[in-house]
Amino acid sequence: MTEKLAPGAPPGQSTIPLAIPELRGNEWEYVQECLSTGWVSSAGPFVDRFERETAAYLGAKHAVAVVNGTAAIHVALLLAGVQRDDEVIVPSITFIAPANAVRYAGAWPIFIDAEPDYWQLDSQKVAQFLQDECKVTNGTLRNKTTGRRISAVLTVHILGHPCDSGAIREVAANYGLPVIGDATESLGARYKEKPVGTLESLSCLSFNGNKIMTTGGGGMILTDNDEWAAKARYLTTQAKNDPLEYIHNEVGFNYRMPNVLAAIGCAQLEQLESFVVAKRRIAQRYADAFAEIPGITVMPQASWAFSTYWLYTILVDESKFGMSSRSLIRRLIDQQIQSRPLWQPLHRSLAHAESARRECPVADRLYQQAVSLPSSTGLTEGQQQKVINAIITGLR
Ligand SMILES: *Cc1c(COP(=O)(O)O)cnc(C)c1O
Repeated sequence: MTEKLAPGAPPGQSTIPLAIPELRGNEWEYVQECLSTGWVSSAGPFVDRFERETAAYLGAKHAVAVVNGTAAIHVALLLAGVQRDDEVIVPSITFIAPANAVRYAGAWPIFIDAEPDYWQLDSQKVAQFLQDECKVTNGTLRNKTTGRRISAVLTVHILGHPCDSGAIREVAANYGLPVIGDATESLGARYKEKPVGTLESLSCLSFNGNKIMTTGGGGMILTDNDEWAAKARYLTTQAKNDPLEYIHNEVGFNYRMPNVLAAIGCAQLEQLESFVVAKRRIAQRYADAFAEIPGITVMPQASWAFSTYWLYTILVDESKFGMSSRSLIRRLIDQQIQSRPLWQPLHRSLAHAESARRECPVADRLYQQAVSLPSSTGLTEGQQQKVINAIITGLR
């Protein structure tokens, strides 16, 4: 199988990091306002403002700010009605957070392969699974092998590119399944002109430090559904039914975003457009530099997609490029350039070994060939040229 990297230079020591935040707007001013007014915790004017402005920016009716993207997905699953011992469809090639969130809800992920063109969840393989491996008994859709109820599709828009959301929603609708969108890697992207974050009835954002905009750590649930938005606020504040008497009718979570982080978020949101422009400029330079290099596949963008190229990723075909993806990563590490493979496909993850094993050959190939390159919005042209040179010098 795929060769593993020996532990190399810790990423923190790279002179050219993979993806670091840019905090050059009103962050200081807004945070100072929190500190001087004493509004630092999980209530305050910046939380409301950040929610209002993000919802308005994307065109969503409601936004509920939470502590991180994983928490957003966890709560979204509960809102969609996912219950203990259900099964939820999740792509095999993604960061592990959405699969973990499924387990937090007590349910089990069913890992479905990526499509080869844009590396996103394959709607046809979802359809095939639902048709061939599931059946409806007494009005309930069940996995024929495990007997478990299939209760949702959790699609992920990976690497800044939307999945074929329309096709996935159509398949899900045929089976009456709700679709939850993990939009954590693709804020700023669009699918057929519609912003990622508003495609599914519940969408989730992350503001982790490596995302296109950051609050240090944070997340958000977006929905047009009034009831779900109210329930999201309720569940994320310990399910408090009476704020004075502290009466709770169910077990909730402490998941609300602190005001001081929302302040950073408000400042970052003001810069989001410029971050998208920067990411796309970086992508264009990489695409131009690698267009003629045998064995390198540049990052794709579907005709129906506007990608942010959040983390610029190439595929390296060893037989044509003359070097494996892992050797290339090692070469970059030697030159203090941080890069990395894609995530281990989740159908091979020991963390999810108890979930049903399925074949995901496209995910396996992506894992073997993909190399993610420095993509920080603040990456200079000189730094990027150094990365490009490190990849193409010595070839031919
Ligand atoms: C970053 C990320 C998340 C959520 O991350 P948090 O660190 O919890 O904010 C979820 N899914 C994917 C695919 C991600 O990349």
